[in-house]
Amino acid sequence: MADGARPDVFKRLLDEGQLPNIQREIIDRGTYRTATSVFPTTTGPAYLPMLNGAFPGTMNVTGIRWFDKAEFFKDRWSKAAKRTYVGPEAWLFNDDMPAEFPTLHEQMERPYNVFSVITRGVPKENDLGATGKSWMYIKAHYFAINHPVDVSAYERMMRGLDLNPEFFFVVFPCIDWGSHYYAIEHEQTIYSYKYLDFAVGEAVKKLKAQGRWDDTLLIITSDHGLTDTPTHMDLAKFMRRKGFRTFAHPNTFTIKPQAAVMISGNAFGAVHLLANGPEILRGDDVKNAFGVANLQELLAEPAVDFVAWRGKQDGEFMVANQHGEAAIFGKNGQGYRYQPLTADVFGLGNLASPMDAQGALDATFNSTYPDGLVQVEQLFRGSRAGDIVVSANPGYDLRDRWEIPEHKGSHGSLHREHMMVPFVYNQQGWDSRNARTADIYNTILDWMGKPTRENSDGRSLLRG
Ligand SMILES: [Zn+2]
Repeated sequence: MADGARPDVFKRLLDEGQLPNIQREIIDRGTYRTATSVFPTTTGPAYLPMLNGAFPGTMNVTGIRWFDKAEFFKDRWSKAAKRTYVGPEAWLFNDDMPAEFPTLHEQMERPYNVFSVITRGVPKENDLGATGKSWMYIKAHYFAINHPVDVSAYERMMRGLDLNPEFFFVVFPCIDWGSHYYAIEHEQTIYSYKYLDFAVGEAVKKLKAQGRWDDTLLIITSDHGLTDTPTHMDLAKFMRRKGFRTFAHPNTFTIKPQAAVMISGNAFGAVHLLANGPEILRGDDVKNAFGVANLQELLAEPAVDFVAWRGKQDGEFMVANQHGEAAIFGKNGQGYRYQPLTADVFGLGNLASPMDAQGALDATFNSTYPDGLVQVEQLFRGSRAGDIVVSANPGYDLRDRWEIPEHKGSHGSLHREHMMVPFVYNQQGWDSRNARTADIYNTILDWMGKPTRENSDGRSLLRG
């Protein structure tokens, strides 16, 4: 997991010969391609498709922060009413994942993990990132000393390779961190790509020495891209200016809140409207609760790319930008259509014939919002997705000043700059149709001769 790696930067470094080990050992005998991530494109939820085979909405883990309206109205102090995985609640991530979506770890004999928050099924002694992780992460976060964490990932991975793993998930976090704290092409960030290349080279050397390399599937991918973010717009402050008493991290002690704002990545925002009680709002009820004029003003904000909400009917979704609205139709992987109403918000024209999930991916893969139809639909499968979802324009995010140090890069949106990730593996001849990171799950199970999972949002790429 090259967390935060962008396919264009990755490809440029490859073409310049700056990732020689990955080029020689993986790509020359394998494949370089790109895949789509998930909405929201944020660390944690965007690991779910690979490790659990399911989208964030399917699993109702709809962001790195989320709010649960129904739970909130049952008991506002309930642990299940809100979450931020940034900080001490991170360990709740495993419990928040529904059991019917088992992790790859749970299906392997000898699973190992370094630095992923998803550890369900990893025996304690096989979680090689656990010891010493917190202090190292805190230090790296506040003092922006990132590089030692990748070194530590490498050292732990090398130690783990001596323990005969069947499955090994290793996170190299520093491309993401370098992009957040400096810039996506800052020398620190580029250094992290090169360090990954070194680590891969050493791992392959070791696997060759062990006689295991020919029997190893090695995949390098990412959970999201990032974009440089010179401008912050605070969505919670916007709501407060519009007269909503607003609950948002870190201010979660709001008396009688009328709205909850949950930001992920920081280019994704979920707004829950609370004045009408626990019901999840649909159609015009959303506009009425938010205020038509407020919505127009939000859409006119330069930071806002588009907003989305549930349509009146089940399987209907609305997307709007400053120019107007369009409708998306589809449900559980079937019947996807897209219809501009007052504007072609996703720039796709009219897609009137129903498509399955693969067709909807193919129709949008090269567009501004890759996999946009399925991704909007899957997100709203989750009851915690919010009544209104805001996707930020590249160059902006939705959270002011709370991040220490200030974030100079962001992700989370449905824009292709965040959605597209490198997808590199040491195999050839797999299904060449467009792929999602969600396909990695069943592909790994299939490659290992284990049964694939029917309820997965992805498919095995070993089958056409
Ligand atoms: Zn990430």
